[in-house]
Amino acid sequence: MYTQQLVFVAAALSTPLLSSANCMYGTSLFPRSEGAATVEVSKFGYTGLQGPLNWAALAAENSACATSKVQSPINIDSTVQLAAEVPKVVIADVEAAEFENLGTTVEVIVNGTTTFGGTEFSLKQFHFHTPSEHRVAEEYFPLEVHMVHEAADGSGAIAVIALTFQLSDDGTTTTELLTAVTENLAKIATPGTVTETGPLKFAEVINHVQTTPLFQYAGSLTTPPCAEGLTFLVTQKPLPLSVKTFNEIKSVVKFNSRYTQNSLNQNNLLAVGAAALAGAVAGEAAGNGTAAGNATEVAKPKPSGGAAVATSVKASATSKTAAGTYIPPHNHNLSLGTPN
Ligand SMILES: [Zn+2]
Repeated sequence: MYTQQLVFVAAALSTPLLSSANCMYGTSLFPRSEGAATVEVSKFGYTGLQGPLNWAALAAENSACATSKVQSPINIDSTVQLAAEVPKVVIADVEAAEFENLGTTVEVIVNGTTTFGGTEFSLKQFHFHTPSEHRVAEEYFPLEVHMVHEAADGSGAIAVIALTFQLSDDGTTTTELLTAVTENLAKIATPGTVTETGPLKFAEVINHVQTTPLFQYAGSLTTPPCAEGLTFLVTQKPLPLSVKTFNEIKSVVKFNSRYTQNSLNQNNLLAVGAAALAGAVAGEAAGNGTAAGNATEVAKPKPSGGAAVATSVKASATSKTAAGTYIPPHNHNLSLGTPN
């Protein structure tokens, strides 16, 4: 399981984009600079050409984003098992913790230990996604927090405890940890800035993780380079979130949720989409309007930047125009080789 990850590490060490991987930021693979008053902001984003549909084109080491068959986040359906074991989570309360705005999320630097599956993992940081990245039985949540751990044995294995949050019925009940974190959130409204949180108490969150069911599956980073080999533990039951705290977090984090990936072990959705487009074009070229069901072309992003994907899409569009088979922009049924 970790062979692939080690290959990825070797490739990643030669790139300046390391700190853009905020789901692993702060681990030994993606170290932060000590004592810095600012942090480097991420190179990727969630909109347009910086967004998740084009991550593979931003850097060669991001290819898994468009090819891997075990990508996160997923819709957690009945095929995803509950963890058979309760993780042992130890996080000491702190008076303050470093709090960073990476541009793509805000992140709190804390230490702790989670023992799970016979492995001891060191907590490195936790960060926020609005709205949630995972969905449970199709439902999304307003907020998801990722507690990122790295195996203490140096193997490079990563485990993420994902906490989902739901707006509380009375609008004011909230999880105490979030209140303390967001106390100074306004001070890091600008990407690249750093401050400290208020005092953090972890008992409530630890209790939730250790007493309510957790979904467990093997997935990937939800941010570039989308590396496989992560163990995800996702809370089945959401924690409470006040409207005020949610709005405060959303106003700074904004939108940072990768789209729901294909079911585990199914083809990467970007590869499926590329093949469908290639098939449609091939069908037109054949002039018979039938499906080119054997299309084998998949997205092969080039390290030189976004031009590869953009050019490919443009070429398809041009060819469609030439063939006079315009597909309306809101055709939700863009199936293989049915040009109309
Ligand atoms: Zn994350």
